[in-house]
Order: sequence, then C-alpha cells, then structure tokens
Amino acid sequence: MSEADVVCYSEEIGLAADLVRIARALPAEMAPKVHAVLLPGAAADADDRLGAAGAHAVHRVAGTESADPHVVAGLLRGVVAALEPSLLLFGSTKRGREVAGRLAGLLDLPALTGVTGLRVTAEGVRAERETLSGNAVAVERFARRPALVAVLPGTTAAAALPVTAVERREHTAAPPKALSERIEVRPKAGGQLEIEKADRIVTIGRGLKKKEDLALIEALARSLGAEVGCTRPLAAEAGWLSDDHWIGLTGHRVHPKLYVAVGVSGAVQHLVGMRTSKVVVAVNKDANAPIFAQADYRIVGDLYQIVPALTKALAG
Ligand SMILES: Cc1cc2nc3c(=O)[nH]c(=O)nc-3n(C[C@H](O)[C@H](O)[C@H](O)COP(=O)(O)OP(=O)(O)OC[C@H]3O[C@@H](n4cnc5c(N)ncnc54)[C@H](O)[C@@H]3O)c2cc1C
Repeated sequence: MSEADVVCYSEEIGLAADLVRIARALPAEMAPKVHAVLLPGAAADADDRLGAAGAHAVHRVAGTESADPHVVAGLLRGVVAALEPSLLLFGSTKRGREVAGRLAGLLDLPALTGVTGLRVTAEGVRAERETLSGNAVAVERFARRPALVAVLPGTTAAAALPVTAVERREHTAAPPKALSERIEVRPKAGGQLEIEKADRIVTIGRGLKKKEDLALIEALARSLGAEVGCTRPLAAEAGWLSDDHWIGLTGHRVHPKLYVAVGVSGAVQHLVGMRTSKVVVAVNKDANAPIFAQADYRIVGDLYQIVPALTKALAG
C-alpha cells in the first residue's frame, strides 16, 4: 500500500463519486491509488458508480446500518487504518461533518470541513474555504499528514477517469458500541424537501407581501418543474416556509441548472448559497438590486405582474 493513497467516503453516493473524481484529478504521484469506501446500507449499484467515477478500489464494509456517527466513524476507522492513506476526502454534508470530526478524533487526524478547493503537492495539502460571509477565500495548509478534508457538495469535480479493472474488497468490522440510540424518525412538517438536489429552483424573498401570495410562486415553480426556495427572512423570521427551503450561508447551498430569484435583493449571505447555479434569472423592481449582478437574465418589474405573466407564458 502506498503512503500517498487517497480514501474517499460520503454517505451520498453522487458526492462520493465526485470525491473520487477530485482525487483522480490530483497529480498521479500525489494520489496513485484512489479507494472508495461503502458502509452497510449503501445501494447495490454504488460499487459500479464509484468504479465508473474512477476508483481503483472499492471497499464494502459488511454489517448493520447505523445512524450513529460514532458507529459510522468506528466502522471507517478499521478500513482507513488498514489502508494507511495520506489523504482522506469526505463529503462535507451535515452528516459527513459529524462523522469526519469523530474519525479525526479517533485517528488523531488534522481535519478541515466546508472545503471548496484542494491542492496537493510535495509540500503538502492546501485547502480552500470561504470566509467572511463568503466574501473571501481562506487558504489553509495542513501541518501533517494524513489529513482529512471534507469537501462541500457542488465543488467542481473533474471528468471521470474510469479504470479498466476495479478492485473490490469486502471487509467485516465489529461496530463500536453506539453512544446514542435513534428512537424514532419523525417526518418534518413540510415534507422531505432536499433542495440541494433540485435541478430547478424558484426562490422567493421579502418582495412577497403576504404568505397567501406564495401560491403565485408555487404556480411558477410548478410550471417550471422547480422546487420553491426562500431567503432567510421568509423562513427564520416570517416562518412562511420551513427551513428546508432556506438558501444561503446559514441555509442550504444549492447548485441547480436554473435559479429564478424573485423579490430577492441579493445579500452576500444569500449569494453564497446559490452562486454556483448555472443559469440565474432575477425578478426585482429595483434595477440596482445586487442580485442582478449575479443574473444571466434580468427582469426589472413588479413580481405581482411578472410572475403570473411568466407562469401563463410557460403554460401556453
Ligand atoms: C450571519 C448572517 C447569516 C445570514 N444567512 C442568510 C442565509 O443563509 N440566507 C439568506 O437569504 N439570508 C441570510 N442572511 C440575511 C441577509 O443578510 C439578507 O438580510 C437577506 O438575504 C435578505 O432577504 P431578501 O432578499 O428576501 O430581502 P430584502 O433584502 O429585503 O430584499 C427584498 C427585495 O425584494 C424587492 N422587491 C420588493 N417588492 C418587490 C416587488 N413587488 N416586485 C419585485 N421585487 C420586489 C426589493 O427591491 C428588494 O431587492 C444572513 C444574515 C446574517 C447577518
């Protein structure tokens, strides 16, 4: 086993595949072999997806699925210790961060979460993270390796570099005793929205006068096959939409193909959550609203006229 190997893990297989692509894009001498780890509960086709992304080896750990991050970290610990990688790439999801922190504690690894860029050279591992409300990028260097880097979803991953023969290995690991027990999973009011996964989003901001007017936005979203997102004031202050819809620095970070921002001013804390959207359409009555600087298509006008007109045009 080479000391420079990379181990990739995320409970989200799409993100795990992105991590594999990021690892394969590192200079070959810095990441000669890329391993992906699957834990109990991973989908049957996950091995193939990771292989297609370019993993040289896929390691499947057998056992019982656990929701306890302590148990998950314990299961990973055995595989990681056996592989002796110099770099671990994790998905910086809410769950991924919990597991990463615990694994770093168990193995005494230096760790950074929320990473948006990575550079690995003979001098070491450098990670980039947003700071100052997304207005600046902090570059940090690890003092030692192995290092654990948790990468934010949506971080650019290179094209897949599939390998001809993917090595597949089974592992059995005795899970550590759980430190907490999940008693029940109660669905949240408002359903199971995972806005990070949406391809199209119509986001509403404080330009909306009253809760009942959300129907206008929902109609536009329906006609586009989009999910409804919102700025912080609509979720945290007005409570018109649940936190699942809240986009931004303290909300969800989204990467849709289409982002329609309606009555949204474009505060930096909001932009941080949507700036990687592919095509941005903004509707605002203020021609100088900062959101227009992010927009590919700008519609200056009253949302109460524009939104129904757009919905009608899309329906026809
Ligand atoms: C630490 C911190 C974290 C934060 N995190 C987040 C976050 O994660 N997400 C987030 O969104 N915010 C966040 N905020 C809040 C952020 O700073 C802004 O206050 C917020 O994004 C503004 O929301 P808005 O655009 O809906 O409202 P406003 O800034 O009030 O903008 C409303 C816009 O609607 C337009 N408008 C009004 N009426 C109409 C109409 N009839 N037709 C068309 N346009 C109209 C106005 O011209 C205006 O541009 C955070 C703030 C702090 C301090």
